[in-house]
Amino acid sequence: MNVGATQKVLVADDDAINRQVLGELLKPEYSVLLAKNGEQTLERAVRHLPDLILLDVMMPDMDGYEVLRRLRADPQTEHIAVIFISGLDRPEDEANGLNLGAADYIAKPFNATVVTARVALHLQVVRQRRMLERLAHIDGLTELANRRRFDEVYANEWQRARDARRPLSLALLDIDCFKQYNDRYGHPAGDRVLRSVARTASSFMRRPVDLAARYGGEELVLLMPDTFSEQAQQLVTGLRLAIEQLTIAHDASVAGPFLTVSVGGATLELEAGESAAELLDAVDNQLYRAKHAGRNRVEWRGPLAARP
Ligand code: GH3
Ligand code: MG
Ligand code: MG
Repeated sequence: MNVGATQKVLVADDDAINRQVLGELLKPEYSVLLAKNGEQTLERAVRHLPDLILLDVMMPDMDGYEVLRRLRADPQTEHIAVIFISGLDRPEDEANGLNLGAADYIAKPFNATVVTARVALHLQVVRQRRMLERLAHIDGLTELANRRRFDEVYANEWQRARDARRPLSLALLDIDCFKQYNDRYGHPAGDRVLRSVARTASSFMRRPVDLAARYGGEELVLLMPDTFSEQAQQLVTGLRLAIEQLTIAHDASVAGPFLTVSVGGATLELEAGESAAELLDAVDNQLYRAKHAGRNRVEWRGPLAARP
């Protein structure tokens, strides 16, 4: 869900009148979907990934409890918030529903104002949870993915590359003489530079599977699934050049008049059974070589692709 986008509510009830009343009630504020039985509810939940489901407990083919169990068993739908709406109004029914993981329980006959208020409340919780999840994965300064996010994605992509026997390329990018930049131009200016470098890096990571993340202080990591060594080298070489061409003055650099970066990279050696940690080490070694060979360059393990 995009921030600000209309949230989606799925109303599941076998009773046509209830469906209609609830649907009309919520339509002015939300995008409403309807389902008339358990099967349809599950099918629509997977297809539309609603933010919230208003779920009738008593339905003929599959009751609401069973629907909820199945939603929770599928990783695609396990986090969808569910409010039970039920004619069963004994405390133990309500407790049972909540214990199964429903966000709330509303007894029938329902009061329209209460339904609207509770739906609004739970959708707000959903939005807040998503925002926290997002923030937990994002670096505040550069707005790139943070180290924690990278670690997660990298572990998954390494596994996927190994299982599918697909290439996986990885690179570390480190700003040259950045300490001197801060000393010469001030820390706030350094922060702005870091943001520009981050923005440039993410503009080179064009496919949704590519990831640019902040690895540490002034070091970014670039993860390129399904990318062979040559393509990856070309990509990061283009990026290195694009950063130099930002022509950010850096008087105190040993690598030239402008701010530059050094990049080390490698492509996973599947045949050698290389681990994720070993690949990262290899990439780090290449970065070290790039620094020692004079900075403002790309060093890549293995055969070099033609590059400027
Ligand atoms: P090299 O060319 O060998 O990479 O030299 P360097 O000066 O870039 O490397 P070093 O690791 O000695 O220093 C990194 C500097 O990056 C030190 C630190 O002040 C700066 N830095 C790290 N994170 C930030 C940040 O968030 N903002 C700013 N402005 N500076 C940062
Ligand atoms: Mg540096
Ligand atoms: Mg560094």
